[in-house]
Amino acid sequence: MNRILKRFLLIELLQGMLVTLRYMFRPKITVQYPDEKTPISNSFKGKHAHDMYADGRERCVACKLCEASCPAKAINIQIGVKENIRYAQKYEIDQFLCIYCGECVVACPEKAIVQTTEHEYELYADERRYMTKEEMLAKGKKYD
Ligand code: SF4
Ligand code: SF4
Repeated sequence: MNRILKRFLLIELLQGMLVTLRYMFRPKITVQYPDEKTPISNSFKGKHAHDMYADGRERCVACKLCEASCPAKAINIQIGVKENIRYAQKYEIDQFLCIYCGECVVACPEKAIVQTTEHEYELYADERRYMTKEEMLAKGKKYD
């Protein structure tokens, strides 16, 4: 059938409507987000958390390997020493810079920094830009 005749008989339009009709009676696969959620893989790389030992001690020893391995230069650590033990006096992640690649998690020899599946958040204001160690420790407890 030539193109002009096809257009005249609205063949393409009818073909399109047939596709719509076919899908109309199939089970819906669209999800009404945010009321409905889709399953998330356990390996999803979401917001960071800091893990602790069972006795409440922080795992992080402020070795700075995560900071060095971060391609986005999003991590900022200040080293502190308490009773001859190193710890992260300040540990921040710049959430505007972070690309959630997971390199910091891989680099950590103490398994101190982890990534949770948390992905529903928004950052509008600059003051919430930096995720602090305290926030990450609290998140670590929540995901225990
Ligand atoms: S997830 Fe990637 S970009 Fe984000 S802090 Fe870790 S290493 Fe840096
Ligand atoms: S989170 Fe891990 S890699 Fe980063 S400073 Fe702490 S111990 Fe080192």
